[in-house]
Amino acid sequence: MPELPEVETVRRTLIQLIVGKTIEQATVSLPRIIQKPDDTMLFEEALAGRTFMEIDRRGKFLRMVLDGIILVSHLRMEGRYGVYAHHEPVEPHTHVIFRFTDGSELRYRDVRQFGTMHLFAPGEEWTSPPLNKLGLEPLSDNFTCEAFRSVLAHRSSKLKPLLLNQAYVTGLGNIYVDEALYEARIHPEQTADSLSAQEWQTLHQAVVKTLSEAVRQGGSSIKSYVNGQGEMGMFQQQLQAYGRSGEACARCGNPIVKIVLAGRGTHFCQTCQRMKRSRKRTAASVKKG
Ligand SMILES: [Zn+2]
Repeated sequence: MPELPEVETVRRTLIQLIVGKTIEQATVSLPRIIQKPDDTMLFEEALAGRTFMEIDRRGKFLRMVLDGIILVSHLRMEGRYGVYAHHEPVEPHTHVIFRFTDGSELRYRDVRQFGTMHLFAPGEEWTSPPLNKLGLEPLSDNFTCEAFRSVLAHRSSKLKPLLLNQAYVTGLGNIYVDEALYEARIHPEQTADSLSAQEWQTLHQAVVKTLSEAVRQGGSSIKSYVNGQGEMGMFQQQLQAYGRSGEACARCGNPIVKIVLAGRGTHFCQTCQRMKRSRKRTAASVKKG
């Protein structure tokens, strides 16, 4: 599933490809993608004649601003956008086509069919599902260490599932949670309420650093994910923990292990990311390698 860096890469690509273009006709061939309005014909009618003004992002959602209407899109597992000339053959699993007045088309493909689109009157998107349920935006000014601690530090759940929960911090998924915890040298099963102030600072910095660097590299390309222009992100070559079980840890040389935690494959180094017994233990004694 694309996470924040991949969606951000799609956003930046789409800005170059579709901002300023006017929709002549929108065509939906798989109604389940359209969550709002209920009737896909209303969706198609509402978009005809509208121009893409801006592409924004909230967590893993694209927020597409058209004149007078907002389109909120989530790619879920394998949704992807591409811009094509009108005469180019339509690929299988293309479910929504936005035909522009200049003859080009924005096409939405989704093999798994889990992606969603919602239409809103401007402003209404912030007070309605799905955007109203989202937590802190990790690459925004609001994502301070204090804000991060205040939503998580009192919780007795394990860090990995907490960091995956979009209601607390949004945009992180399985790849970048594993990477951020590795970067911070914190065990994924550590409970949030066991972390010291210093560890919260380290984890906060690790989340920002990991996501920023991944955005800078155009995201990761795991399995079928490609960005809006069909290019692969470069960050997968720098993943330190995710997908590297059995390989040597870059810091200590011991093998990265994989466990299943809250139903998700979880990758970490048992030597660098030791389970801490008590919050009394200092950060210095945890540091190793
Ligand atoms: Zn290690």
